This record gives sequence, structure tokens and C-alpha cells, in this order.
Amino acid sequence: MENSDSSRQFRKVLVANRGEIAVRIIQGLREMGIGTVAVYSEIDRTALHVLTADEAVCIGPAPAAESYLKGDRIIAAALETGAEAIHPGYGFLSENGPFSAAVEAAGLVFIGPTAETMAIMGDKLSSRRRMIAAGVPVVPGTEEAVTDPAEAVAVAERIGYPVLLKASAGGGGKGMRVVRSSGEMAAALRQTRGEAGASFANDAVFVEKYIESPKHIEVQVLGDGRGEVIHLFERECSVQRRHQKVIEESPSPSLTPALRDRICAAAVQTARAVSYRGAGTVEFILAPGGEFFFLEMNTRLQVEHPVTEMVTGVDLVRAMVLIAQGQGLCYRQEDLRQHGWALEFRLYAEDPARNFAPSIGRIESLTVPQGPGVRLDTGIYEGFDVPIHYDPMLAKLIVWAENRDLAIDRARRVLGEFILHGPVHNLPFHAWALEQPAFRDGSYTTHFVSEHFDPADWQPRLDAGQTDALIAATALFEANRRDARLATPPAGDECAPGNWRLNALRQMTNTK
Ligand code: ADP
Repeated sequence: MENSDSSRQFRKVLVANRGEIAVRIIQGLREMGIGTVAVYSEIDRTALHVLTADEAVCIGPAPAAESYLKGDRIIAAALETGAEAIHPGYGFLSENGPFSAAVEAAGLVFIGPTAETMAIMGDKLSSRRRMIAAGVPVVPGTEEAVTDPAEAVAVAERIGYPVLLKASAGGGGKGMRVVRSSGEMAAALRQTRGEAGASFANDAVFVEKYIESPKHIEVQVLGDGRGEVIHLFERECSVQRRHQKVIEESPSPSLTPALRDRICAAAVQTARAVSYRGAGTVEFILAPGGEFFFLEMNTRLQVEHPVTEMVTGVDLVRAMVLIAQGQGLCYRQEDLRQHGWALEFRLYAEDPARNFAPSIGRIESLTVPQGPGVRLDTGIYEGFDVPIHYDPMLAKLIVWAENRDLAIDRARRVLGEFILHGPVHNLPFHAWALEQPAFRDGSYTTHFVSEHFDPADWQPRLDAGQTDALIAATALFEANRRDARLATPPAGDECAPGNWRLNALRQMTNTK
């Protein structure tokens, strides 16, 4: 382990997030002996991250714009509670350069990259330009924003149709449109710019080659901010709906050892080009012929980081904290290996039959699978009301086994044992995905859902084990209803966890 003179040990860290990722970070900090401060909106006063942290500070009303996106209130909460650093998780302010700068200006440590790195990587056009300069392969296309349809047509004719119009400030799978002929270009450019301006307050749109039937491969990196970078191998995230990931795995079934070496080397080159600090993910698109191109870099902890943790044994939250404490990278590249296979299933409150539309409601009953090779990163418990204000991801189920076939077998068992009543959710979708030949043989692409999943024909099927489990869960649900312990909220301070916290903790420990 490298120790510089400027290294220190944090005594207390504030986690500027909610849901499963806030819980995950709090767990990691606690294992390091670091005190934890949660922040929460009024509607989240009994959320799991609030119950899990040592201290919790209310930062405003339910809408994220009035709470989790209020950087000044979060910084004030850190100062009030004596936290020395802020971990931003993912989403919310995690990739917001001005927030990172404000945290540092307040004398606190931001557990993540510098504001400068975020400014370069947060914008798809500027990161493309930086990667072209660094010699990293990027998807063929423009280096500048395009406003004139005639220019966009000229570019498309040069690189060949189909092309993708992409918002430079886009994210979350939004702000993209495929154009297959010159006749579609003018309207598509107008619409994409309009959407980009409305959603991201930046209407810069560029043109890139649309890769048909690709795979999404990304590489986890860690950098010390002084030019040292290591990678923790790849994740494959090609099972997506609306360009957003739902199942991830590591290793990727699509990489040969030689291709793995090349793609991981390109990721290290990407992170070195910006002297990357902290944990980051370099995303690539892999064409059917084996050519790969840089898509973007996510300058934060990624939702799907657990699959990397399971196959490498590295605790990424701990690694991030050690880097932020000035202790540098704690691993040498030559010591890192991929061991076994991990699959992650994102549990969303959403309805696969209704084009994966988000759903809300109370978690009426919850039976969490256990056993060898099972990990659940969760933000819910029985009795918790899933709010409408935030991302509908409830939890992530991760399974690990010695190889891919065994991991799939284990995942089938585990999904069959997972019982959740309340909001409509996508567990049956995951069970369905595992049975598809294209998933089983690893040949699936980013079109897996659109090619194989038909909502009109969607009838979640349950096997015998699941039916038994369902009967057991129904009995449990009835028993819980008779014995409901969650009282109505106490009168008085809306924000105080007080009795709620105690009641909810009792509920969590007593129900099963
Ligand atoms: P976002 O920042 O919104 O996540 P990305 O650039 O990371 O956008 O792309 C998200 C997904 O969109 C990719 O995983 C892939 O499925 C699809 N995609 C993006 N660029 C291309 C491309 N050039 N060709 C084909 N698919 C693409």
C-alpha cells in the first residue's frame, strides 16, 4: 500500500444519496470504522439508508431538485455534523463538477474525481475529442455539434447509414435517435436538439455511426489522481431496455483473452489521459466483428459495480475511500484476477407488460433469497412505501458461482425463491431472460429485449418452486397484516426519524 504524507483517516463521511447505493456505501464505511451521516428528503424519513446510518439530516422536500440535488444543503449538513468527506454514490450530484468543487472549497473531501475531470468526461463531445487525442478508438462521427441538416447528411453519407444523433449532455439512455436515410435527417435533428435542450439544458447534438447488433462492454478502473491507473476487468451490460441496463455480468461471455487485454488497455489509456482519481467506468460498444469503440466514461461508482467486486474480491467503496484519504491504489495490476462468474439483476418497480413503466406502492411482503453465492444490495424493507419521486430501482440481486453455467443455474434458483408483493416489479422478467437461448449461450446483444421480448405476449410464468414459495409468502403476508407493527407517523417534526426509526427497525428484525 502506498502512503503519502498527505494521507489521513476519515472519522466521519456523509453519503449524499438514497436507496440501495447509500446503504451499500454506509456498510462499506462502517466496516472501515468510519462514522456515517445520511441525508434524506421528507418522504424518505423512514428509508433504509436513514435507518442504517449513524446520523441523518433532513435536507428538504421530496422532489430531488429540492433535496438530493441541493448541493449547498448537503455541504451544510456535512459541516454541521462534522463529516470530513462526501461520497456522492451514483446519479444525483455524483457527476456534477461544480458540486465537487464546492465540496472541496468548503474544506471537505469529495470522494470521486476532480471537477476538471468531470467537466471533460461529463460531456460526450469533449470526452470524444479528448479520447481521439489520446489515441483511444471512438465511434466514427463528428467532433463538433451539428446544427445544419445538410451537414449531418454529409457526415452520414461519409460514415454510412444508419447513424445515431446523440445529445452531447445526454445520459440515462435519453437524447438518442437512429437515422436510417437522408430523408429522415432534418426532422430527427430538430427533435433530438429540442429534447436535448429541454432535458439537459444543452441542445448540442452530434452524429456517430450506429453500430448494428452491438454489445455493451465496460471496464472498471481505479486511478490515484497522479497518473497511476489499474483496471478491474470488464462487465457486459447488453441486456437493456430503453438503452438502460437491467442485467449485467462479469466476465463478458463475448471476450477472448486477447480482446479482453486490448479493451482493458484502452480503458486504462482513457483514464490515464485525464489522470483519473477514484473509481470510474469506461464504456465501449463492441461491434459484431470484434472492433470496439469508446462511448463514454462514467466518473463515479457504477450501479453494477458488485459484479466486479464478486469476481475480483475488491471492495470498490473501500478502494474509493482509501484513494480519497490519499493512500493511493491499494492493488497492483498483476495481483488482480477474475475468479468465477457474477450476474446482477436490477430489481425495478416497473411493469414489463406496460413497456417497463414505473410502478409505486408499499412493499407488502418480502422474502429475500439466501444461500451460497448470493448478495442483495437493497434499499427496501417490508412496510416501506416506494416513493414516486425517484428512480424505481429497489434492489440489486447478485449471484456468483464458479462459472457462467453454474451462475445461471444459481440465479434460476434464487429468482424462484425471491418473493416481493407490493408494486409491480420485474423479477419475472429476469426469470424469463435466463431461459432465453440467446442469453444462455451469451450471444445476446443490446437488442435482446426488443428482439425477444413481446409485452403483448407477456405472461409471467411461475414454476413449481415459485408456486410453493408464493403460497408461503401469502401466508406470511396474512400473518404480517394481523401483526402490523408500522404505526402511523408521529405528529410533530416531519423530518425526525424518531419513533419511526425504532418501529421500522423492529419491523425489519421481527417479520421473518
Ligand atoms: P447514456 O449516457 O445515455 O447511457 P451511452 O452513450 O452510454 O448513453 O449509450 C447507452 C446505450 O445506447 C449503449 O449501451 C448502447 O446500447 C446504445 N448506443 C449508444 N451509442 C451507440 C452506437 N453508436 N451504436 C449503437 N448503439 C449505441
